[in-house]
Amino acid sequence: MENFIKMVIDSDPLVTELNRLAEFSDVPSPAVTRIMLSDSDLAARKYLCGLFQSAGLEVRTDPAGNLFARWVGTEPDLPAVGTGSHCDAIPHSGKYDGTVGVLGGLAAVRAMQKAGLRPRRSIDLVMFTSEEPTRYGVGCLGSRLLSGQLDPSDADQLVDSEEKTFATLRKETNLRGSLGDVPLPGDAYVAFVELHTEQGPLLEQKNIDIGVVTHIAAPSALRVSYQGVGGHAGTVLMEGRRDALLPAAKLVVAVDRAARDLGSKDTVATTGLLEVYPGAVNSIPRRTQLEIDIRDIALDRRDLVLAHIAREAQSLGEEHQQKTVVEQINADPPATCADLVVQAIEEACETAGVSHQRMISRAYHDSLFMAQVCPTGMIFIPCREGVSHHPDEFASPDALGNGALVLAHTLCQLAEAKPTRPKGKGSNV
Ligand SMILES: [Zn+2]
Repeated sequence: MENFIKMVIDSDPLVTELNRLAEFSDVPSPAVTRIMLSDSDLAARKYLCGLFQSAGLEVRTDPAGNLFARWVGTEPDLPAVGTGSHCDAIPHSGKYDGTVGVLGGLAAVRAMQKAGLRPRRSIDLVMFTSEEPTRYGVGCLGSRLLSGQLDPSDADQLVDSEEKTFATLRKETNLRGSLGDVPLPGDAYVAFVELHTEQGPLLEQKNIDIGVVTHIAAPSALRVSYQGVGGHAGTVLMEGRRDALLPAAKLVVAVDRAARDLGSKDTVATTGLLEVYPGAVNSIPRRTQLEIDIRDIALDRRDLVLAHIAREAQSLGEEHQQKTVVEQINADPPATCADLVVQAIEEACETAGVSHQRMISRAYHDSLFMAQVCPTGMIFIPCREGVSHHPDEFASPDALGNGALVLAHTLCQLAEAKPTRPKGKGSNV
């Protein structure tokens, strides 16, 4: 049925809305800073709600601030189809990360409406609270709660840099109700699909319109600290020194080697943070702290590398006679996208006449958590030079249009949309 429907995306309003949304920011354009439930975020939410309502969608917000805009289907009791992404933005980032999935989702719904379609299943356009960890140090806060992966009382007790708990912030921003009511019932969605920029260079390099995501790599992180003995860099002789930077430096090398030796090409390990105390040229480091990020699409392999690095960290501390603390700060499981959604996206690409390629998402997304509750997939569009989390982030109007069109056809298929007008009228052909 859906193959007979001609849908068109007008990317002009999509570009205009992305630009307008970017104005809700704590810093001047083209940079965007929009921290969860800040004044800018609240204003952005108000703007979005207006757009959703004018498209005839029913808007509700859950106690975590996740926003749902529902296009009610002809059989509203059936499990719905979900789409969406996030609108919060880390400090000094760009205007496309996440927002493309929200406003692109709206563009897809409008295209279906314009083609005279009505879905059998309802379609929920979701804007997740705080995909970025900026405020509370926890990424995907909204989708984590929706999928039951974060204890509601733990979430309420999270504290931001101003000592404000999430519970207090919710109260101040009128998010009423208990976080215990946030987890989705098992039959809420028949499928979820997220449109997002690739945040990497592959699609642009290969000149491919759409990436069909098959796996989402999962991050894990370790924090390691070494306590040595400080002292004057000139007066303390080399013999008997307990320089805390030595085990740390060896660990940086060991992290890199662990991913290369034990993993596959999909295993990556990075020491992204190394702090040295007191941090002066004439002072022997007395304490160091490292944070190490390890990712893979295979959980067992990721955990093998993680465990190896943790052991290595410990034994380097012993070798250098230092008090060593190794903490695991995060270990989310990776996700495999559902065949149902992957195939729907690929068929949608064929229908839309765009080139496509299967790929892995090496960044994590709300879809990582939605995959815990329903069949999930992701649609990637190219972004200029793969740049993301930066004011130079850019996706062309053509790329945006392609993404929204493929999303529209995917939603049509997953929600079994049918024409509501006789053929020959409107834009049905
Ligand atoms: Zn994102």
